[in-house]
Amino acid sequence: MVPAAAELPLIDPREGNIAKSGSRAPALQMRFDLITIFPEFFAGPLDHGIVRRAKEAGLVQIRVQDLREFTKDRHRTVDDRPFGGGEGMVLKPEPLFEAVEKLQGRSVGDAAELRKPDSNTAILLMSAAGKLFTQETARRYARLERVILICGRYEGVDERVAEHLATDEISIGDYVLTGGELPALVVLDAVIRLIPGALGDAASAQTDSFATGFLEYPQFTRPPIYRGMSVPAILLSGDHKAIARWRRKESIRRTLQRRPDLMTRAVLSEFDRELLAEVEEEAAQTMQD
Ligand code: SAH
Repeated sequence: MVPAAAELPLIDPREGNIAKSGSRAPALQMRFDLITIFPEFFAGPLDHGIVRRAKEAGLVQIRVQDLREFTKDRHRTVDDRPFGGGEGMVLKPEPLFEAVEKLQGRSVGDAAELRKPDSNTAILLMSAAGKLFTQETARRYARLERVILICGRYEGVDERVAEHLATDEISIGDYVLTGGELPALVVLDAVIRLIPGALGDAASAQTDSFATGFLEYPQFTRPPIYRGMSVPAILLSGDHKAIARWRRKESIRRTLQRRPDLMTRAVLSEFDRELLAEVEEEAAQTMQD
């Protein structure tokens, strides 16, 4: 169990005292730990927008753990050659196991004791060979108290970390990056914006792409005509019912055109089916023209 906010150390050396006077203490603070060989990598990305606000409001606490602190040799070695031969280097298991143990020990005030993670903690290994990260996964993690993210490098990570330390192996997409730091930031960002109170307008997370099973409808803002390009007239009509219908229909149109894979999985209401029929008819019409 991660202790409630009041028991957590509130001084983060990277960001000063986050319990500034006047900021409201949240019921429970979600905690993220990033384990990396490049701790400086995270200096900028966590200091902007919603993630920054969530930190300042005390909704989340983010710590960066330098993996090399858990090496014991003079050269602070974190990697070694792969057994069986082959290209490149592999991250060794010992520093990773010890880093996670230490982090968990600290949170329960019980250093160095190896414990199975409780169901409120996820230990994520970033891996191109992992399970695909989706909005559904983000929603699941947003309900946890703590997420520990392990960033791989080089050719990857000793498999024992995936098998015996991590609770999930996560890929952010079908491409290979040079390290797990960017994927970890992607996961962190997607999860943080789902934490209650993180988004200024709580409603906006509910209409986002994927939230409803469809892609989000197109958005427009002022000016109504820009360089001859005009905003759909219906959005300026003030007719809220017509606008809601238009938006739903455009969501369906986009999803059908761009992500037919999502369309086959979506649960359609009677109303959706009516809109889908219109969209399909319009598509057939354009084909004929
Ligand atoms: N040889 C590995 C790739 C290693 S890339 C393979 O073929 O699967 C080095 C590190 O970058 C990985 O250990 C992982 O932590 C991270 N990484 C690369 N691509 C990723 C992706 N699509 N999703 C999540 N992590 C990724």
